[in-house]
Amino acid sequence: MEKLKSVILGSGPAGYTAAIYIGRAGFKPVIYEGLQPGGQLTTTTIVENFPGFPEGIDANELMEAMRKQAETFGAEIRPHIAVKADLSVAPYRLTFDDGSEVETQSVVIATGATAKYLGLPDEEKYKGEGVSACATCDGFFYRKKVVAVVGGGDTACEEAEYLSTLANKVYLIVRKPFLRASEIMQARVKQNPKIEILFETNTLGLFGENGVEGVRLVYRKGETDERRYELAIDGFFLAIGHQPNSAIFKPWVKTDETGYIITEGHTPRTGVPGVFAAGDVADPNYRQAITAAASGCQAGIEVSHYLQNL
Ligand code: NDP
Repeated sequence: MEKLKSVILGSGPAGYTAAIYIGRAGFKPVIYEGLQPGGQLTTTTIVENFPGFPEGIDANELMEAMRKQAETFGAEIRPHIAVKADLSVAPYRLTFDDGSEVETQSVVIATGATAKYLGLPDEEKYKGEGVSACATCDGFFYRKKVVAVVGGGDTACEEAEYLSTLANKVYLIVRKPFLRASEIMQARVKQNPKIEILFETNTLGLFGENGVEGVRLVYRKGETDERRYELAIDGFFLAIGHQPNSAIFKPWVKTDETGYIITEGHTPRTGVPGVFAAGDVADPNYRQAITAAASGCQAGIEVSHYLQNL
């Protein structure tokens, strides 16, 4: 079996940043790209909140640059997804979707979180053309426009609030007759004149010739009251939760009830020596490219120290 010193699982900002640090420390990390090469950012368009790019930067260009920078310092990038992990004792054993297996002294888990979608075919059709799961990333493009946010939790309320600072009108589509969000967030959206909450409403589909131009909705109350209608919108935002990609590590590392990996204090340490978690898989709160990169840096430094001391 192939024996490695450093494996990084995931190729978003956390994974690439960890690779840059580990590579510069002289250990050649192997990055497995995972589910979404380049990470979640590649599902958006322009990134305007990553410092250093006053005009913004194309998300794919940014990730390509990080990839090249990681390769410059010796990272090898492989296109597979980890499907099994045995972290019981070092060296740790990882199995990939092509059937290959490796043994490694250290692991950076940077597998990210996947935004949940409703599962409508139209979401795929209009992804990047009016459908987004990140208001912070894409909200800016909806200045003075009309948008809809799906969800009734804190994220949905926060995103609706944020979008209301840009858009002229925000519909909040909530499937239940009440919001699940904290009292303070509920109060904010209810008092916001730009936000209209559509309770007991579900999305049937989207339509539009040039990207999203409208949403088809159904309002249901009880058994008999059902009303189908359409609304003109320019953007459709999902805020129905994220699923951290941590399933295969759960027997070995601590996770919260949603599956986010719980690390020790303000470090990326998982409690398993040589195994670190960075980026969205361990971050239920911020989920930004820059925070992921920062925790990737921490993990990279930790791995370098760990390997130096072996
Ligand atoms: P939540 O799980 O709290 O809420 C998800 C929302 O999406 C619920 O209203 C749920 O509806 C709805 N939903 C789920 N699936 C569907 C579906 N298929 N169709 C329509 N609606 C759907 O997720 P959040 O991301 O909002 O929050 C996650 C955690 O992070 C929470 O603990 C939250 O408090 C926390 N958080 C805290 C923040 C803060 O404090 N500033 C900011 C953001 C998040 P239903 O209620 O019917 O299940």
